[in-house]
Amino acid sequence: MSVLEIRDLHVTVETDEGTTPILNGVTLTIRTGETHAIMGPNGSGKSTLAYTIAGHPKYTVTEGSITFDGQDVLAMTVDERARAGVFLAMQYPVEIPGVTVTNFLRTAKTAIEGEAPALRTWTKDVKEAMKNLRMDSKFAQRNVNEGFSGGEKKRHEILQLELLKPKIAVLDETDSGLDVDALKIVSEGVNRAKEATGLGVLLITHYTRILRYIRPDFVHVMVAGRIAEEGGPELADRLESEGYDRYLEPADATD
Ligand code: ADP
Ligand code: MG
Ligand code: MG
Repeated sequence: MSVLEIRDLHVTVETDEGTTPILNGVTLTIRTGETHAIMGPNGSGKSTLAYTIAGHPKYTVTEGSITFDGQDVLAMTVDERARAGVFLAMQYPVEIPGVTVTNFLRTAKTAIEGEAPALRTWTKDVKEAMKNLRMDSKFAQRNVNEGFSGGEKKRHEILQLELLKPKIAVLDETDSGLDVDALKIVSEGVNRAKEATGLGVLLITHYTRILRYIRPDFVHVMVAGRIAEEGGPELADRLESEGYDRYLEPADATD
């Protein structure tokens, strides 16, 4: 079992107005085999958490820690995080001119494993994963993210997930811009990875829709850079009917 532990995380970002605090003490533990959903209104800091786990240079940790199996994640380079088994879709460049999907995947796999995968089994694995995600085989020869549609980007994310076999995956708004059919295919991919490797998932989403297909064990509601409430899947059902309003309204002074 592996554990990603986020303790009292405070994160700031530099803006025109100076240093702005965005995360104000986030504590969260994700074990392999568990699925955690982070939900919350726009601007509450969900993506900031994902970028901070990914090691994006724009975000500064001012307090708290992130460890993976006891090792200091914040001291790791982006590559070291991937090698340790933490998968972050957004760590990869938006477009990689001249690099095909197939070469990109092989390079990433080689970097993570420390040696190149055996060509025959690898080619077979890639084909099968693409077939499972209903991806045209021609897709493998396209340049990474060049002219990809929203849906293709998401499928490419899940293709990486299935082939790179991380221990923990952080998926930020994987559901955004997907129609129901694509959402089902992408969700099936995540569920396959969960079953095959006991993947731990940190699923960040504004909407409850994806949680019908990827059932969370735990739901955390993030508001203003903090976890405002935690619960099981029933909390997602409540958010679906009630929305986030009650987290945003000022406390009732009379009670
Ligand atoms: P969410 O993903 O929950 O919608 P974000 O983490 O994207 O929230 O944003 C949280 C807050 O931090 C917002 O007010 C946003 O404008 C601000 N923020 C996030 N990243 C940056 C950045 N790179 N520069 C300036 N402000 C940022
Ligand atoms: Mg804040
Ligand atoms: Mg976001």
